[in-house]
Amino acid sequence: MVSDFLLLIVSSPSGAGKTTLCNRLRAEFPDLRFSVSHTTRKPRPNEVDGREYHFIDKDAFDRMIGEHAFAEWAPVHGNSYGTSVAEIEIAKREARGVLFDIDYQGARQIKARMPEAASVFILPPSLAELERRLRGRGTEDEPTTLRRLRAAKGEIEHYGFFDYVIVNDDLERAYDQLRAVVFAERCRRGRHALLCEQMLAEGKVGAS
Ligand code: 5GP
Repeated sequence: MVSDFLLLIVSSPSGAGKTTLCNRLRAEFPDLRFSVSHTTRKPRPNEVDGREYHFIDKDAFDRMIGEHAFAEWAPVHGNSYGTSVAEIEIAKREARGVLFDIDYQGARQIKARMPEAASVFILPPSLAELERRLRGRGTEDEPTTLRRLRAAKGEIEHYGFFDYVIVNDDLERAYDQLRAVVFAERCRRGRHALLCEQMLAEGKVGAS
């Protein structure tokens, strides 16, 4: 039986709007806990340790790999990123679901470990628009921007792995589609098996 706990993976190439969409999802569904990953990337000016990421150095990251502390991890854009087992356990204790903002490599590992997870790929309307957004964001220097743009096609190649694909051409429409995935996933048959079985086990109805 599938439990009521929702595992939602959201992936996309850099600049497709995934962070904005995930932030909106977090505001609307506070019972969906955001999984704070560990990374060796340096924090951006607006990022806070423990909120966007746990920022650690390569030695600490490698130690965690050795201790099997990650449910998944992967090299992405020249840094290492990983979801700790502890992060998922906290969510299972304290929330009704967990939201993973991870790349396709991590998505595959989480799915292999927990096949009931739902995965969503956010697609930009075009590569040209992706470039415009990534440059407009201004969070990366030129070499990093180029590296991320070159990686975008490699990420899109994996779209076939995902359960859902949402084209982010219009933020409102894309967000409506993403929240629809949450509602649809929460209606999955397996999540209601217990309630159905309880009703079926009840005695005769209409006799009172
Ligand atoms: P950024 O450096 O822009 O925050 O993230 C770069 C990429 O790494 C994004 O595609 C993001 O989804 C991915 N990412 C973030 N955390 C994790 C993680 O824990 N595991 C994996 N596999 N990818 C991650």
